[in-house]
Amino acid sequence: MPRRASAGSAPGPGYTPANSNTRIQGPRPFTLPVPAPAAASATAPPPNLGLNSERLRALMVQRLREQGIADTRVLAAMQAVARHDFVDQGLASRAYEDAALPIGFGQTISQPWVVAYMLSVMCLGREPARVLEVGAGCGYQAAVLAQFVPEVFAIERVRGLYEQARLNLAHTRARGRVRLSFGDGMQGLERHAPFDGIVVAAAGVKIPETLLSQLAVGARLIAPEGSARQRLILIERTGLAAWRRQELEDVRFVPLRPGTQT
Ligand code: SAH
Repeated sequence: MPRRASAGSAPGPGYTPANSNTRIQGPRPFTLPVPAPAAASATAPPPNLGLNSERLRALMVQRLREQGIADTRVLAAMQAVARHDFVDQGLASRAYEDAALPIGFGQTISQPWVVAYMLSVMCLGREPARVLEVGAGCGYQAAVLAQFVPEVFAIERVRGLYEQARLNLAHTRARGRVRLSFGDGMQGLERHAPFDGIVVAAAGVKIPETLLSQLAVGARLIAPEGSARQRLILIERTGLAAWRRQELEDVRFVPLRPGTQT
């Protein structure tokens, strides 16, 4: 199974993640009831998360439904993508908790609810063919998107994470549908615009206007905005020079930063 190379700042298994890329209010996150492992015997195979992960994912998807996620494309995609393959091996057993987890370089893989919610809102009532993700991190959200979007463009500004995402995605079925680039996603990807949807996985004080101009008319962008206090913002392009803005949930995300980090 694909495993990302250990990042310089990857923490150990006892690490408590920063509260990043998570919702602040709403249903209390709860920990999956993982059954106690059977007593080890000399002949028993080692515990293998891969064998159990489908069931753990089904529980995660069930919990997302209970938390109000109804888009069947998103739920099916999250059932299909092995989230534990996108985190450090030491954290794999926690991959199906409703939590953000560290991925190295001070960044996090988004909380499952956040991924499900952002994608559901971005594509509500639409069938986007080409979507841009800013802040690919380890590549998980791009892989989820690629389960139901034919063309996914994802950008990451930290070289080490870009490399990890490339490795992680190379081992998934999403491979051919994600075009990953290393660069500053605040600039968007002009040469591939307009997009039928844009998802930003890091919080800027203001949503970059360049991204708004790369939305197709009728398409939606969802992004966290703010510094001390952050909100998810939904922006729909309603005309050539018209955008409609709506404030959604309180969240806490890692910062959107200009330029690149090598
Ligand atoms: N999409 C990820 C979340 C990763 S965290 C997931 O699937 O869970 C957000 C990421 O945004 C970090 O990796 C951070 O390095 C990246 N980021 C921040 N500012 C950026 C920018 N201007 N361009 C591209 N990526 C950026």
